[in-house]
Amino acid sequence: MKEKKKHIAILGSTGSIGTQALEVIANQKELFEIEVLTAHSNCELLITQAKKFKPNVVVITDQSKYKKVNNALFDLGIKVYAGKEALAEVVEMEDIDLVLTALVGYAGLKPTIRAIKAGKNIALANKETLVVAGCLISLLCKEYGVSIYPVDSEHSALFQCLVGEENNAIEKIYLTASGGPFRGWKKQELSTVKKEQALKHPNWDMGAKITIDSATLMNKGLEVIEAKWLFDLKAEQIEVVVHPQSIIHSAVQFEDGSIKAQLGLPDMKLPIQYALGFPERLKNSFKRFDFLDYPHLTFEKPDRKTFRNLDLAYTAMGKGGNMPCILNAANEIAVAAFLKDEIGFLNMSDLIANCMEKITFVPNPSYEDFVETDKQTRILANKLL
Ligand code: NDP
Ligand code: MG
Repeated sequence: MKEKKKHIAILGSTGSIGTQALEVIANQKELFEIEVLTAHSNCELLITQAKKFKPNVVVITDQSKYKKVNNALFDLGIKVYAGKEALAEVVEMEDIDLVLTALVGYAGLKPTIRAIKAGKNIALANKETLVVAGCLISLLCKEYGVSIYPVDSEHSALFQCLVGEENNAIEKIYLTASGGPFRGWKKQELSTVKKEQALKHPNWDMGAKITIDSATLMNKGLEVIEAKWLFDLKAEQIEVVVHPQSIIHSAVQFEDGSIKAQLGLPDMKLPIQYALGFPERLKNSFKRFDFLDYPHLTFEKPDRKTFRNLDLAYTAMGKGGNMPCILNAANEIAVAAFLKDEIGFLNMSDLIANCMEKITFVPNPSYEDFVETDKQTRILANKLL
């Protein structure tokens, strides 16, 4: 008889999503078994996690940290590998049932493709993978019979609203956005903001890259593209609504006009648990939402003139091909530069728009075209800084 436990690989276990996923799993030990944990360079936390969860394998992509991790885990019989290629290889391990992609940025693309080709279902936090190569990923999922369970709170909300609606068409979706720390701010005020201000998100505690993306509205732009691929939607079916309380995580409108929404406190553990446990809802003791604590749920239009990234993402999605890949790579360089105080808050959008104009457009890109586009865009963006 097959064992009931789901065997999980967590790529990026030391990050915000990765550590919360381990919290979820620690509370549901009878349901999950950890097979693989990975980190980029945070070897101390990776070692602590490995000692606690006893995976079969850990990967540290920063090769210089290999010795330290291996010395710490060798006696426990945990295999330790290093480097990017190892990350892509371990997802193919036979015992894995589900791969949680909780690493940040373009680095998620290759291991996700390898996992899909090995027939592993994906719990997807790494939205950049779908932004860069949504078309390719969707085709591969069909070809290999693989499911993607969204972890992003908005997409988890949509996914939950769609359970039982397989035969009913979606008229449109409402993707909610908190508006970030600078909601209501104008260009002049934004021109001088510093990373310390941008890193203070009002509702969510997340990794640095996505926190900056939330402040610029690029996160919502990336999520629009993510939603297109996850739910097979056209641009005009995706509407962004600013909802500062982050209680309604998103909503689906059907062809009879009825709207289903999913609500809850802003806590990523719930969407993470739903993706890991799907199709079951697992009992937990997370704090419950109380309507009386939120007598005013409010909604506004996003300020697309001030926060240009949202429109840049819609433009990239409309053009298709390698344009979202260009958008993503330029954004990764822009955010990294902003975090090093090398460019201003508003210059991030200029840099992205500039790359979208200058990099060669490829209408039907292959995997190799995405790799080349990512590389060329990073070179150009670094030059333009
Ligand atoms: P973090 O920055 O907190 O964590 C990133 C993880 O990926 C860490 O384990 C990090 O290792 C690892 N990592 C970083 N760079 C690389 C690399 N080049 N190669 C391999 N591994 C790498 O990010 P988050 O957890 O905030 O976000 C992860 C993903 O989930 C992102 O795509 C984000 O958009 C998405 N997401 C996050 C949400 C959140 O609440 N945080 C909400 C919705 C989506 P190390 O610690 O060693 O650096
Ligand atoms: Mg989100």
